[in-house]
Amino acid sequence: MTILAIHGGEPIRKKDFPGYNTLGQEEKKAVERVIDSGILSKFLGTWSKDFYGGEEVLALEKEWAQKFKVKHALAVNSNTSGLIAAVGAIGISPGDEVIVGPSSMAISATAPLFFGGIPVFADIEDQYYCLDPRSVESKITSKTKAIIIVDIFGHPYNRDAINAIAKKYGLKIIEDCAQAPGASLNGDLAGSLGDVGVFSLNYHKHIHCGEGGVVVTNDDDIAERVALLRNHAESIVAAKEVTNLVNMVGFNFRMTEIEAAITREQLKKLDNLIELRIESVNYLRNKLLQIPAITGGGQAEGAKHVYYVLPFNFNSEIAGVHRNVFIQAVKAELQGDCKYREGEGPLIGYGYVKPIYWQPIFQNKIAFGPNGYPFNLGNPDYSKGICPVAERLHTDTLFHTTMFGPHFSTADLDDVANAFFKVWENRHTLKS
Ligand SMILES: *Cc1c(COP(=O)(O)O)cnc(C)c1O
Repeated sequence: MTILAIHGGEPIRKKDFPGYNTLGQEEKKAVERVIDSGILSKFLGTWSKDFYGGEEVLALEKEWAQKFKVKHALAVNSNTSGLIAAVGAIGISPGDEVIVGPSSMAISATAPLFFGGIPVFADIEDQYYCLDPRSVESKITSKTKAIIIVDIFGHPYNRDAINAIAKKYGLKIIEDCAQAPGASLNGDLAGSLGDVGVFSLNYHKHIHCGEGGVVVTNDDDIAERVALLRNHAESIVAAKEVTNLVNMVGFNFRMTEIEAAITREQLKKLDNLIELRIESVNYLRNKLLQIPAITGGGQAEGAKHVYYVLPFNFNSEIAGVHRNVFIQAVKAELQGDCKYREGEGPLIGYGYVKPIYWQPIFQNKIAFGPNGYPFNLGNPDYSKGICPVAERLHTDTLFHTTMFGPHFSTADLDDVANAFFKVWENRHTLKS
């Protein structure tokens, strides 16, 4: 009889897994070039030629705009700062409502708070996990000004339906495409599907420079206001003769020359990294879908998924065992760490992130100061149950993995799949 590792049996694998590392000689040379130049950042917080940054930043922005087929690309020091700048640039003001999703990094929902905007949570749909257009429309009030939508896991959002709603109610769309560089919908690239898109270049993303981000838009006014917010807007507006002072209290969201130079090299590698990633996903996904309790991981018609994460739905009724118990048993079969992620164990998780509104700042409505600002400018509902699909995915059905990619061999992928198969075949020995 086979004994599952979680019950003390021999695991499928004890050896560590490879780690995702996209850095090479090209990035090393790029960094050397910057060091040799003696200029690590050329930004000046005054209205001058250097207000827009140095050579590497400007070159990256040009190359990024070309690659993603947009008019403007602005390098920033994270997706987080890019989202804040985007919210400020579109003019979100105290008391304005912004529709956001519950299942992402928190900043995808908290960005409006920095300008007094009130996040209003709409639900996601349970196949591709992006905002559900019907839920979005049901949350619109006379105070709604914008939607922040996430191309979650690397899948583009439902542009046709969401953009139609935005048009009908005069809303701006901020697209958080941190997980979706190169994703597309009917050939149109993520980042350009809404009014302004924000990429991430943090260490965990498809391509990275340590910490960084890029804001893209085809709108001249938004681009200019993002550039101002990035670099001390309040000190620039007089000299630049900017007349719209709304939200023109700036930050330092500037990217350094080193990060820009690294990103320029990374950008050249993106297409190949995505293709290898998709190949790897297809291999693993075809195997896991042989298990009757597992569905999903696919893409909507016309969509290109770039698989930052490979998500699935798990049906506990078909399995006869709860998702959490099943996945814990799978993880026990894979005892190696992934390189660079030591201590995290196998990169398979049940649920994704907790619905953001479960976090204490929303449950207690305390963000800036002790009196509830800006939530007290409205009466938002953050009670448990407001996004039933997101909650069910989190507590019962969604699981995801990042154990695939260009760095995984077929044998590595087979080990991952075999862990699932072994647990499936012996699930009757697990107690829910
Ligand atoms: C990574 C990520 C962010 C944050 O990016 P940073 O560059 O670390 O600020 C925001 N939203 C989503 C969906 C992400 O995946």
